[in-house]
Amino acid sequence: MHVDCGTLVDGTGDVIEDARLRVADGAVAEGGPREDVAADGERVDHSGEVVVPGFVDAHVHLQGLRTMDPTDWVLADDAECAARATVDCRRLLEAGFTSVRDLGSTVALGLRDAIADGDVAGPRIYTSGRAISQTGGHGDAHFLPHEWAGESGLGIATLADGEAECRKTARRRLRNGVDCLKIMTTGGVLSEQDEPDHQQFTDAEIRALVEEAHRADRQVASHAQGAAGVTAALENGVDTIEHGFHLDEEAIDLLLETDATLVPTLSIMFRIVEEGADHGVPEYGLRKSREAFEAHVDSTRRAHVAGVPVATGTDFLGAPLVPHGENALEMELLVEEIGLSPLEAIEAATGVAARTVPDDVGELRPGAHADFVALDADPRDGIEAVREVAAVYKGGERVANGASDL
Ligand SMILES: [Zn+2]
Repeated sequence: MHVDCGTLVDGTGDVIEDARLRVADGAVAEGGPREDVAADGERVDHSGEVVVPGFVDAHVHLQGLRTMDPTDWVLADDAECAARATVDCRRLLEAGFTSVRDLGSTVALGLRDAIADGDVAGPRIYTSGRAISQTGGHGDAHFLPHEWAGESGLGIATLADGEAECRKTARRRLRNGVDCLKIMTTGGVLSEQDEPDHQQFTDAEIRALVEEAHRADRQVASHAQGAAGVTAALENGVDTIEHGFHLDEEAIDLLLETDATLVPTLSIMFRIVEEGADHGVPEYGLRKSREAFEAHVDSTRRAHVAGVPVATGTDFLGAPLVPHGENALEMELLVEEIGLSPLEAIEAATGVAARTVPDDVGELRPGAHADFVALDADPRDGIEAVREVAAVYKGGERVANGASDL
């Protein structure tokens, strides 16, 4: 088939007017000015629209959560989580997100496979399975007595302490078929007994986790907010830094030196600071978010100016405060708060975000999956155009027509 595009934004930085995309066997065969690309097979007419690569959210949790109370998260039943997460997957697709990297879920591995088999509609999922935290770390349920939380942890993270346990936990994840590992090298906002500045895991533990993943060709993502935990993660080989609230010059230099990707997840922080109090975010989470807010925006700006690849990731979980389907917010925040141009924000959500996943998505180059979105408005006139989704294609098949009233 061939797709006639009013404008084609291919995700590599190129913009072509009056373009054509030729698609064969679910992949892009060729793209370019209309007169240079053969009109093979069926014609799909998007000559009145702007065609962009399918968006990639590089940090989500497909856990079907519907509240912001961490107690509810660990008590939720997996079948209920999976059922709700299938609805979230549909919403992601309708919003133009054809790929997501899930960084902590008890159900995403199964969802990934059900979607890949065609049983459930949704984006391509690349998942870490459950995240890995130290005891008392960001992923521990330390609002519960230790005996209740157990030795291995609850909910979307499990616990590992010492190099040997870290290796064994990493190997278990790989045995389960994960696409990457998610570790936590600092405290966080929604964990009661730690602070974003606290480093978690020792260098030896981080190195053990990273070695196991890299030997199996998987990337490692680290939840890392304070500079010490960001630096320790990067020095020990972590590939992507999640959040990065407090980046000092050393951390930014290391991000550049190691060619790591920064996924700032501005969206969840903005939503918590603006409306978290109305949605049951615990008091400690509100306090820590407000304290980190300015530094977070400033760190992201400095990293972007220094040339660090910044990818879109919302950290959305499915609750009404942070619902799947509104993931385009991250592109808007990158423009409005960080100073990216609209085309740079689209690149952050396509070519750059695709650096974090082991597949050929995010750029409409020959050989890549034919995942693309037709937009009714031109994002160069305003980034909010990325919400004007007219049609969504995954592997060359039309899978959604923009937001439904699900
Ligand atoms: Zn997260």
